[in-house]
Amino acid sequence: MKNLLKITFLFLLTSCTMTKNNPLLETPDNSYQAPPFDRIELTDFKPALIRTIDIAKEQVDVITQNPETPTFSNTIEALEYAGEEVSRVAMIFYNLNEAHTSEQMQELAQELSPLYTEYQLYVSLNPALFERVKEVYRDQSSLELTQEQARLLEETYKGFVRNGANLSPEDKKTYGAIQEQLSLASLDFSKNVLAATNAYTLHLTLEEELEGLPVYMKEMGKEAATALKKEGWVFTLDYPSYGGFMKFSTRRDLREQMWKAYNSRCLDENSNRELIKKIVSLRLQSANLLGYEKYTDYALEQRMAKNPETVNRFLQDLMEKTLPHARREVAEIQQYARSKGFKGLLMPWDFSYWSEKYREEKFDLTEEALKPYFSLDKVQEAVFSLARTLYGLHFRPAPEVPVYHPDVKVYEVTGEDGQFTALLYVDYYPRQSKRSGAWMTSYREQYKHNGKEYRPLVSLVTNFTKPTATTPSLLTFSEVTTLFHEFGHCLHGILAEGSYASLTGTSVARDFVELPSQILENWAYEPEFLKTFAVHYQNGEAIPQEMINKIVASKNYLAGFGQVRQLQYGILDMAWHDSDQVPSMDIPKFEETTLGGSIILPAIPGTAFSTAFSHVFAGGYSAGYYSYKWAEVLEADAFALFKETGIFNRETAGRFREHILSRGNIEDADVLYRKFRGRDPKPDALMRKLFPGDR
Ligand SMILES: [Zn+2]
Repeated sequence: MKNLLKITFLFLLTSCTMTKNNPLLETPDNSYQAPPFDRIELTDFKPALIRTIDIAKEQVDVITQNPETPTFSNTIEALEYAGEEVSRVAMIFYNLNEAHTSEQMQELAQELSPLYTEYQLYVSLNPALFERVKEVYRDQSSLELTQEQARLLEETYKGFVRNGANLSPEDKKTYGAIQEQLSLASLDFSKNVLAATNAYTLHLTLEEELEGLPVYMKEMGKEAATALKKEGWVFTLDYPSYGGFMKFSTRRDLREQMWKAYNSRCLDENSNRELIKKIVSLRLQSANLLGYEKYTDYALEQRMAKNPETVNRFLQDLMEKTLPHARREVAEIQQYARSKGFKGLLMPWDFSYWSEKYREEKFDLTEEALKPYFSLDKVQEAVFSLARTLYGLHFRPAPEVPVYHPDVKVYEVTGEDGQFTALLYVDYYPRQSKRSGAWMTSYREQYKHNGKEYRPLVSLVTNFTKPTATTPSLLTFSEVTTLFHEFGHCLHGILAEGSYASLTGTSVARDFVELPSQILENWAYEPEFLKTFAVHYQNGEAIPQEMINKIVASKNYLAGFGQVRQLQYGILDMAWHDSDQVPSMDIPKFEETTLGGSIILPAIPGTAFSTAFSHVFAGGYSAGYYSYKWAEVLEADAFALFKETGIFNRETAGRFREHILSRGNIEDADVLYRKFRGRDPKPDALMRKLFPGDR
């Protein structure tokens, strides 16, 4: 009761300070009910979030205080809709904070995040609410739920349980303490990696020490030196600097020094040795508390792979298949180096250098030569036309829809028979207020409520070169595939068909979410399609066949070596987490034992990978690194069906849409995949794609 009083009070307080109209709290007056970006001001967010949180909490209280027996409708569905308005406001705020932020907005984010978290905890740690959810879950067999309803119930219940709702009050406390320690330990891990990365610099003062470095690398080194008020050039362990130096520097001694510094980060100074054990132990304790024997059992339960045995088998099998290719590639580079007068055995600090030299000689394909064939307009037209061919979608510019920056363009997406399907916001060019990278996000997921369907508002954000007065925006080939990739995620959002926002669109298992995006990249490599849009922006000539051949061939350069590395990371990640005990071995020894026969370049004592493996020890990829390769196997296997039936085959596209793109998380990913493909995924298609010469 106390809580309820407090809420009512807050509610009154905010409603009387709301003299000015807050556009975030009104029903938008455009026909799509899209966010009124033209009217939203930064000062609108806080009152809107507070207000919508209050409303949501009241709705949650209505559920918990309902004297009637809990039902699917008065509990599970009511809870799903309780957060509707909060999500709407939060999505606008957090999306803008990535795509168009400011110092004030970042400060505001610091202020709003605790409010939002507090609301989430109000739901997830609410014993009365969980009791009702549990009751519905227990009685589900008598409820005659539709498949979608049953899924929502399952996911809601699991969400509570996986957050500790089923624990005794004492265990809940322990669980909370573990989570807190875990988040602190992860922060410390990142801090150490950053400190170790910054602790090393290679300071060069003689011009001859720069031999082999391209101009941009020299400039980068000069700038870094100037920033440190030093003479000469400075190279660091930040990736662009480190990676470039390893690739281009002819100075083997310096490459060795840098490689060793990079690969021994956080081993001794700024050590992460103890932290790794601590993090692994905390994860294990937390899984044990929730009733799982190993952390991997907990982490994989809701993924497509479902259990550690499947993941381990997947990684080992692919490793076995890939190793001969990787060994052959290394031998080829070794031979090439010898032919150029290099004596002795290739060491890890030689590999990047010699493989880059070999690549230049073999493919002589520069980004600059390709770019004139890939103007952004043409590439966008290509993905739109692909969506029309495969799924009957049409894109009409919708300048009447409000945007948050003049660079943003909106398209109204309609289906075959002209019905409104989605809005697509595209925001292509870099600016100070945008973070780097490329991503897809939504301002609204597709869902239905009170007999009305809300179609999705999808956004595609990138950092491509802005056009000038004389030159259009020209993309590198890797930017072309980035656009295809993100547009694939967009289609997953656009084509969603479901009732509940938490189950539609891209809200799927992590090892499944990259299937719709990665599969689309394949079309960018298909000569039949590539020729239709790769047209020189000045003379209108189609891209020469020879260039297409080189694009395709260079894509698979060192594919085996690269795949072995990715698999090693996946295997290592699993090894740390797939045990009912914390591995006691010293870290370099543990890595050597785990990776054993898959190490193809000489192993160097005193180095390790785990101590700077931030994806797994500071990011969200624990027992999840395998998903990168998993998704590749899926997309290659799925695309193989398009290759067999024709890459523009409407029937295959129809199946992909029906079973994958429209279904979100309404069914298990493995079930959806089987419905599309008629069987489980097999790695053969990926192997054929990476090693086409091999039969
Ligand atoms: Zn992606």
